[in-house]
Amino acid sequence: MNRPLPPFDHDALAAAEALVAPEAYPANAAAPPIFQTSLFTFDNFADMADVYAGRSHQLIYSRGDNPTVMEFERLIAAFDGAQAARAFSSGMGAIAATVLAFVGAGERIVTIRNVYSDAYRMFELLLSKFGVRVDYVDGSDCDAIAAALPGASLLYLESPSSIVFELQDIAALAHLAREHGVVSVIDNSWATPLFQRPIIHGVDLVIHAASKYLGGHSDTVAGVVSGSSENIAKINARTYPFLGAKLSPLEAWLLVRGLRTLALRLPHHMKSGLAIAERLRSHPDVQRVLHPVYSSHPGKATLSGFSGLFSFEVADAIDVPQFVDALRLFRLGVSWGGPESLVVPALAPLQMPEANCLARFGVSPRLIRLHIGFEDANALWDDLQQALARARR
Ligand SMILES: *Cc1c(COP(=O)(O)O)cnc(C)c1O
Repeated sequence: MNRPLPPFDHDALAAAEALVAPEAYPANAAAPPIFQTSLFTFDNFADMADVYAGRSHQLIYSRGDNPTVMEFERLIAAFDGAQAARAFSSGMGAIAATVLAFVGAGERIVTIRNVYSDAYRMFELLLSKFGVRVDYVDGSDCDAIAAALPGASLLYLESPSSIVFELQDIAALAHLAREHGVVSVIDNSWATPLFQRPIIHGVDLVIHAASKYLGGHSDTVAGVVSGSSENIAKINARTYPFLGAKLSPLEAWLLVRGLRTLALRLPHHMKSGLAIAERLRSHPDVQRVLHPVYSSHPGKATLSGFSGLFSFEVADAIDVPQFVDALRLFRLGVSWGGPESLVVPALAPLQMPEANCLARFGVSPRLIRLHIGFEDANALWDDLQQALARARR
């Protein structure tokens, strides 16, 4: 468990190699042990004093470091091509700890207009208490972001974005942010490190809601941020231990297991997702399909594949609640990234009481998001067709 982090290189092979080397686990186990312990003891007073004085290193308490969690962090850093990573008990834990580590009271964040809903609510309801201002910009417009950057502390990206799957030119924006001395962050949950590695395009910090594809089995809520050792050290020093959103050893173990099959699972989500998107595009009751595959934006260049989450807008003739209720294989629920196919209409979040980023930026109430799981793609398509037919007014 004491293998060093892989070097800061740009080689996807490093990620694959990091998954092997099981000889380093105790008893030559193929899978890592779960260190289900809250604390680590010292042999004597002198050892303890040395650790507290920084003269030697030893694990102390699992709100700080835990070996199973560290193994997940080592792997995700390798997948992302980053020097280091820090895991959290949720994607929002990672987002909160990252944003709060780099933005001070009265400072300014530049983000995209349709950023993930709870990141938006954190900006509006929590950070506003500290006088932090947030500019919501059309992320597809590089010039608009460039105009907002001078004087900002943080650029917060999400490409493609939630719900409408709008792309940003992350390579160009990372470069611009660096020129202006602005820390750049991206929520890369949709693409995962398999299909997009923002660190190699110059983005400073990459966040994943590991609850989605990294865990991949709808059994874990977790998050992680990766970046340079220096930036992860800042998160460790400024926010991580105090927000207390540490990952449990059992869930870290589930995530390590998830990473082992990521490269097999995602191509399946991609293949079925593309097949269904294409059929929806030519269905008479579908007005448009919002899937990055149909985009001509330069932000597509950093994607090496497409996951299984996209939206489509139905025609006026379709009753959205009736459509959702008529589906048999697609289950109605939030989140995504597991084996089961899911549906969620934009209508539901649009009805939430507080100001919502979707409503603010004109997302249609006829928008429906699908996650394509591992069921047979033809059966999923039959299900969508029969539900559309039954929901026609
Ligand atoms: C789910 C999600 C998050 C938050 O992750 P949690 O683990 O639910 O806190 C952040 N960003 C995106 C794009 C998500 O889909």
